[in-house]
Amino acid sequence: MSLSKLAQFGVKHVAKGIGRLSTEVLESGSGSYVTAVGGRKMLDFTSGIGVTNLGHCHPAVTKAAQAQVGKLVHGQVNIAFHQPYLELIQTLLPLMPHKSLDTFFFWNSGSEAVEAAVKLARHATKKQNVIVMQGSYHGRTFGTMAMTRSKTVYGENYAPLMPGVFAVPFPYCKQCSISTHSDGKYGFENCCMDPVLQLELLLKRETAPSDTAAIVIETVLGEGGYVPPPPGYLDKVREICDKNNILLVADEVQCGYGRTGKMFAIEHYGVRPDILIMAKGIANGFPLSGIVSRKELMDLQKPGSMGGTYGGNAVACAAAIAVAKAFEEEKILENVNARGEELRSALEAARDDPKTSKMIFDVRGLGLMLALECTPGKGYASKIQAKCMEKDMLLLTTSIYDTLRFIPPLNITKEDMARGIQIITEAIDEVAA
Ligand code: PMP
Repeated sequence: MSLSKLAQFGVKHVAKGIGRLSTEVLESGSGSYVTAVGGRKMLDFTSGIGVTNLGHCHPAVTKAAQAQVGKLVHGQVNIAFHQPYLELIQTLLPLMPHKSLDTFFFWNSGSEAVEAAVKLARHATKKQNVIVMQGSYHGRTFGTMAMTRSKTVYGENYAPLMPGVFAVPFPYCKQCSISTHSDGKYGFENCCMDPVLQLELLLKRETAPSDTAAIVIETVLGEGGYVPPPPGYLDKVREICDKNNILLVADEVQCGYGRTGKMFAIEHYGVRPDILIMAKGIANGFPLSGIVSRKELMDLQKPGSMGGTYGGNAVACAAAIAVAKAFEEEKILENVNARGEELRSALEAARDDPKTSKMIFDVRGLGLMLALECTPGKGYASKIQAKCMEKDMLLLTTSIYDTLRFIPPLNITKEDMARGIQIITEAIDEVAA
């Protein structure tokens, strides 16, 4: 079938509810590039939404998965342990942001892991409600749909959703014109929208601490705007959790596992989560997610109350072990910081250039989780995105704030980054012209 016929077939037979950026039909991928049927090669600055973090078809990951396929594909976890599952835990243990995080279980998707974290928090605290952040994205399953607050389309017409979910503002200082003090300390004292005050008020007005099991937060807000919280904010959330016997759950599905230049984003803030959620990049494209917490919490759950047919699949676990090895061998975090600085400087140069500065409201992010927020109201982000697409580059926006998000592979080469920067800069210039 020709490319256009294939695309037409897709439009006809694939459910419309799955929105998509383009009707290209991908055939192969290698490193930072994907190739569509017909031969169009595109620079992938989406990494399949932060998943193929070591590039498409990383040779060591492919080799590990191929070897595992020949050994054991499905070692169902409610029946027995399997070797890659345990070896993966051994590999992950030293990477954890706090030594209390020592007990794991694995699922397939980020949403399942978020739901598992909520189940654990409810069971461990014997409380029901959860607090999430406005702008957060936690998934599209029934539980996570109620927790997702980045865009109404995710919940519209699907009610009734899971009850007992309350939302507070995420600290986005630039948008609401509140800034941190010059010494970097937390400072919202004179603002009625102070996110810490809002959290404290929520616990007084809407969900009592005695009913609240967890505060679930994306350490760096992802789909809802790519916003790192200001220094000090997460310490305050931790204090509130400690004071009220509430568990702090860090959703690092998107911002975790090297994306921000540290293994986990929460390391930038030195705060201990009670439960950490990971997914996406951990297996470089094989479906794998997981939660980690401390043993005394995890062991409260009754045997058999957790599990699932495919969770912690052996091939996905083998791939994840290879990913973790590659992180060390290929000094991935160093690359994230070096390439991240190159991209950030280019975006800041566009922000400061009189020809383009009127279009750009903010440049922000950590490592290779970067965002360029455009001046509101003109649709600049989607125009730049479309120009990049014309120039064979895949790029995503965030759900609100007219923002472009940059999530290239963490091992992107200097040359590919230079190519990406050239395309982005040209696209910004053309939209400004
Ligand atoms: N949490 C966050 C922070 C995410 O970014 C996502 C996916 N974009 C999810 C949860 C849900 O993951 P999945 O799509 O694998 O269910």
